[in-house]
Amino acid sequence: MSAVTRAQAPFIEQMLPPEVYRQAVDQADLAISITDAKANILFANDAFTRVTGYSKEEIVGKNESMLSNHTTPTDLYKVMWSDLSAQKPWSGKLLNRRKDGELYLAELSISPVVDATGKTTHFLGMHRNITELHRLERVVANQKHLIESVVDAAPVAFALLDPTGRVILDNQEYKKLVTDLRVKEPAHVVLDSLMPAWREALAENPQQLVVSNREARVDRAAGRARWLSMTSSVIDMHSDCADSYFCAAGQPGLLLVIADVSNLREEQERARASALQAVLAEEERTAAIREGLSAAIFRLEEPMNVMSSAISVLQRRDPASAAMLQQALSGSREHMESLRQVIPQSPQEIVVSVNMNEILRDVLEVSTPRLLAAGIIVDWQPAATLPAILGRPLQLRMLFKALVDNAIEAMNIKGWKRRELSLTSALNGDCIVVSVLDSGPGIPQDWRYKAFEPFFTAKGGSGKHIGTGLSRAQQVVADHGGIIDLDESPSGGCAAIVEFRVDGDPI
Ligand code: FAD
Repeated sequence: MSAVTRAQAPFIEQMLPPEVYRQAVDQADLAISITDAKANILFANDAFTRVTGYSKEEIVGKNESMLSNHTTPTDLYKVMWSDLSAQKPWSGKLLNRRKDGELYLAELSISPVVDATGKTTHFLGMHRNITELHRLERVVANQKHLIESVVDAAPVAFALLDPTGRVILDNQEYKKLVTDLRVKEPAHVVLDSLMPAWREALAENPQQLVVSNREARVDRAAGRARWLSMTSSVIDMHSDCADSYFCAAGQPGLLLVIADVSNLREEQERARASALQAVLAEEERTAAIREGLSAAIFRLEEPMNVMSSAISVLQRRDPASAAMLQQALSGSREHMESLRQVIPQSPQEIVVSVNMNEILRDVLEVSTPRLLAAGIIVDWQPAATLPAILGRPLQLRMLFKALVDNAIEAMNIKGWKRRELSLTSALNGDCIVVSVLDSGPGIPQDWRYKAFEPFFTAKGGSGKHIGTGLSRAQQVVADHGGIIDLDESPSGGCAAIVEFRVDGDPI
């Protein structure tokens, strides 16, 4: 009616007789009362008597306060009357008492009726019993509180993701993971590690992401690595938008249950590390024998070649001596061949899916006693997650152990002050890059290529350090389609940079 002008009012009254107004108000399914300016009831409709239990005869002439249970806070009435006195409508909830003594929660709306002089002459009150609604709201709230308490008390982390990947519900354990891992969403870190294309799958078909007890390793710069076991399920979330009122429209959510299994895994890791230490030691011993024998054979070739040339020269001048020499040479060649036969070969390893961070951590673990003994400070900066690559784990461990051993040797010089080893892994486009940086004396520029030659060593030479086993290391890198490079580290020491393509193709 606010848009209706006074000039229009008689016209509308003509179309809608006053009697219809009265009947409409009387029969409305909402408790309606009209009071004077002091809240004395002048009119009450049928619904009013139904809701309050008072007949019209009992209620008309009484003040609205007779409905009050006198437990509604007085401040609420103060606000109500302050609004009404300012001729503003008021609405709120009050605790009322019916005639039969039953209490009910009333949702009340009061509008002042202002006359032509601007004076409030009456009030229009409309209320309904919302006790049941309130009960249901409380039931829902209690259930929510109960569920939240149970979820919060659970010793595992929960995270519910909407189709865009936003975490819309979590629990205390999840919040603890946020603090511990220093990441915004641990759920994303775990999913990134286990299913890199999870975002697309979540938007298109979240069922693809349903897994049970899949473990992800999360490495951190500081502190121990964490092992998180994830179980996921898809749940239907009903939409609360208005347009979903008449249909059960909803969207799927992905519920992740994440358990920290680090302690268990650490125990397994410890057992594995000591077994690994034995395997690496054995492999190193074999490699040392192999290299020693190969180097000896390599060096013996030289005098034998000299003998061979001498035989050619002597053949015409002194055939008898040449024949004797030839016999000696053949004997030596036979012995050398026998020597070649006994060179121990390492067993062929099968290619498996490898996590480079795991390899590096193994190497650090195995090298810890030597690092501690040499007083070397280790800065371990792993990529939080790395995609798995195909490779030979033992060979890769040998490779990085050789680089770490070289770094230790380089810095473990009497009087050498700065002893820092930095080991980092990173994902650079399609490549996994591992850097082993030391603060030793470094490698002279012109030795950096020679260092990869078989049997090259500079130990005991110029005082500058050069690594051993680099030709073997280069072989392992090449077998994995990668590249290895030696450079100067920021501290002036040696920087060994190894790169592998994630898809295993040669770089
Ligand atoms: P009251 O003495 O009535 O008032 C309490 C305080 O309210 C006073 O200290 C004063 O600050 C303020 N106040 C009271 N009357 C006025 C006034 N005329 N002008 C300015 N300030 C005033 N109350 C209910 O509990 N349940 C209802 O369903 C309900 N319906 C109402 C419907 C209408 C249309 C109106 C106008 C009022 C309604 N009231 C209702 C309010 C009711 O009139 C009382 O103010 C309230 O019940 C408190 O009553 P009381 O006896 O405890 O205190």
